[in-house]
Amino acid sequence: MSYSSDIIERVVRENPGQPEFHQAVTEVIESLQPVITAHESQYRREALLERLTTPDRQFKFRVAWVDDKGQVQINNGYRIQFNNAIGPYKGGLRLHPSVNISILHFLAFEQVFKNSLTGLPIGGGKGGSDFDPKGKSDREIMAFCQSYMNELYKYIGPDIDVPAGDIGVGGREIGFLYGQYKKLTNRYEGVLTGKGLTFGGSSARTEATGYGLLYLTEELLKANDSDLEGKTIDVSGAGNVAIYAIEKAIQLGAKPVTCSDSTGWIYDPDGIDVALLKEVKEVKRARLTEYAKKRPSATYQEGRGVWSIPCDIALPCATQNELNLADAKLLTANGVRAVCEGANMPTSLEATKYLQANKVLFVPGKAANAGGVATSALEMSQNSERLSWTFDEVDRKLSGIMKNIFHNLDEAAREYGCSGNYVAGANIAGFLKVADAMLAQGVF
Ligand code: NDP
Repeated sequence: MSYSSDIIERVVRENPGQPEFHQAVTEVIESLQPVITAHESQYRREALLERLTTPDRQFKFRVAWVDDKGQVQINNGYRIQFNNAIGPYKGGLRLHPSVNISILHFLAFEQVFKNSLTGLPIGGGKGGSDFDPKGKSDREIMAFCQSYMNELYKYIGPDIDVPAGDIGVGGREIGFLYGQYKKLTNRYEGVLTGKGLTFGGSSARTEATGYGLLYLTEELLKANDSDLEGKTIDVSGAGNVAIYAIEKAIQLGAKPVTCSDSTGWIYDPDGIDVALLKEVKEVKRARLTEYAKKRPSATYQEGRGVWSIPCDIALPCATQNELNLADAKLLTANGVRAVCEGANMPTSLEATKYLQANKVLFVPGKAANAGGVATSALEMSQNSERLSWTFDEVDRKLSGIMKNIFHNLDEAAREYGCSGNYVAGANIAGFLKVADAMLAQGVF
């Protein structure tokens, strides 16, 4: 059996009932084949891929908190510290009822390569809880965050592990988490990113993932003799990534016409009104039905369906496995030119393969959505310097980082004989740096 097959089989055996983790490892290991073949005996001797697919350590803990009725509630809290070969563990915290060890293993594993691709010194981690923030009062959110931090603070630090936001964790939650860390440790330090601007946050962090996605998409199109001007875009999601992807797409001359949340989706042929979307989602924290009520050109439908709208570019920005094979076929039949992932692993493995086989330009999330973590790393730099950079300064750096990421993965794909395969390019470029650092640092 090949070394790659051994590794995939080992991961499946060692991590039963973790389909998302198996999927992520399979995708990465399969696309690293040219590199693995070139170094097989060394990697086998060093058990490099076994080490790379096994987290350094992971924590699971009880999170007890009191709801507004005085009832004690219990959730599972997690933090996975996957790999710190190139820097302190870095990766978001997700609060969603679907959170489990499989999803966090996949996210933390992917984060290792994503962080490496940014060119910045950050390792990979991820965490969160099966707590559902929907419908909770601010006080309940605070109670949960404080209890979660009562355990998490033991394992993190500015040079150890620096968590950030993800699904269900935005500025409000990071504020509560940071306040509790400070209370417990009496230290004012850059231990979390995505902080508010008045207490160490970076300008442009809120916008970074969505803006970064568009900077990379623009570079991808440029390299393929096209641009964003006048292009119709399907976006899924209506959270942090989706909103700022829509905002930047409009600024760059494109027309995003859809968005969605977990109950339904919007089609707005006149183009999404981003100010209204922000008002509905960021201010009122309401459903998308509110958007449709205020916007005559928009229609709202229950369930899923954004990929049925013909478009030039598709940007899945909601959650994992939200674009399946049937969606990929529909998009392709409708003439989609590019799919760039704003969310983490939103495209299923079969859908990815179908898009690639049909010559659709496809950039995986670990490259396309790396702008968020890259700007988090810039926040860490500002915290270490005890300085704050301007919005323009951070935005300029973000744009440069995203362009670099695209060119690095494009070159890696060419060098290893799979030109135009940006999945392989991203995995190879991300992997080589981490592998080199692991081999240099010895066996542990
Ligand atoms: P948010 O919580 O701000 O928004 C998530 C959006 O996706 C919401 O509209 C939500 O709808 C929808 N959604 C969530 N789960 C589901 C589901 N199971 N089915 C359908 N829709 C769903 O999260 P973000 O925008 O921050 O994150 C979106 C994706 O981007 C995630 O994959 C995340 O890991 C990834 N990402 C985020 C980064 C960041 O900086 N925020 C950085 C890099 C990647 P509803 O409101 O109804 O739940």
